[in-house]
Amino acid sequence: MNRDYYEILGVDRDASSSDIKRAYRKLAMKYHPDRNPGNKDSEQKFKEAAEAYSVLSDDQKRSRYNQFGHAGVGMGDTGTPGFEGFHMTMEDIFQQFGDIFGGSSPFEDIFGIGRQQARRRQRRSDLRITMPLDLEDIATGVTKTIKVKRLEMCDHCNGSGAQPGTNPSQCPTCKGSGQVRQISRSFFGQSITVVPCNQCDGAGEIITNPCRYCHGSGSVKKSAEIRIKAPPGVSTGNYLTLRGEGNRGGKRTEPSDLIVYFEEKEHKYFTRNGSDIITELEISFTQSALGDIIKVPTLEGKAKLTIPAGIQSGQVLRMRKKGLPDLRGSYRGDLLVRIQVVTPKTLSSKQKELLKELKTIEGKSSRTKVRKIRR
Ligand SMILES: [Zn+2]
Ligand SMILES: [Zn+2]
Repeated sequence: MNRDYYEILGVDRDASSSDIKRAYRKLAMKYHPDRNPGNKDSEQKFKEAAEAYSVLSDDQKRSRYNQFGHAGVGMGDTGTPGFEGFHMTMEDIFQQFGDIFGGSSPFEDIFGIGRQQARRRQRRSDLRITMPLDLEDIATGVTKTIKVKRLEMCDHCNGSGAQPGTNPSQCPTCKGSGQVRQISRSFFGQSITVVPCNQCDGAGEIITNPCRYCHGSGSVKKSAEIRIKAPPGVSTGNYLTLRGEGNRGGKRTEPSDLIVYFEEKEHKYFTRNGSDIITELEISFTQSALGDIIKVPTLEGKAKLTIPAGIQSGQVLRMRKKGLPDLRGSYRGDLLVRIQVVTPKTLSSKQKELLKELKTIEGKSSRTKVRKIRR
């Protein structure tokens, strides 16, 4: 004897599909084998409800059932009494759950079913590129257009991976769901693990005639121009993630990210130390003795630097806020100029004459001193 499917779910014959889903969800929760371990009666009701739902949730099957009864949908009337006659296995029932309960089903909490996605899309690996930057670019921030070779949708097959005119076929292993449930029974009850289907890599489909251009992947390498904005203050090792700008194309895959690594180029004059930049300035011993005002290069062109009279080799002059901004933009570093006094190696006779005169005038005050080096 087969009970009426509407009666099983407790819905009217003109119930909407969401009514049917709601009714089934309720019964499935109530009679789930994990909640009623070893209870044969619950298990039967669970299977009965699943069968009723599988027919009434499918418009075609439902209308055949309305016209012809159980015989119309090829279920139940197999001549075998009891539930053995049902065509649905437990595996089929759990397959169905993915469709009804989606990713955040109440079953996840209650029965420990893993994350469910009706069709898992594989994620391609992220694309990584390096963006070289001058210190001048880093000081102000810069927007550049960069050529990137990445996978994009194959135009020949529109990303399907199948040769145009052919269709992928449903994966026989997972019957199109892309995942396989592994059910194991233990002392504590039944546990369900959801794993991606091996045969189709979770796609649910198998390409029997692969596209000639992309060989079934749905994507081909193309070059693209991408505008990348480097914020002021970045350093080597900082990176920017552009969501979805990596490899893409192919219906089976999720676009990946483009990760842009910033790389500081070697500068002609400056060495970076955090937000400060350092350079060395060679001056003559007369400049060091008399002082001077000279022009030195900075990241924003030349700037005046005052050399105080009497400066020594190794002393550092600080040009405030001529360094780099920090990433938060709250602070700007300095340009540090380390002075190197250069002793002339060759002298003209006039220079020699003047220096000798200077030596005479210096007299005793220029006497050399010997000092112990303190470590
Ligand atoms: Zn499969
Ligand atoms: Zn293709």
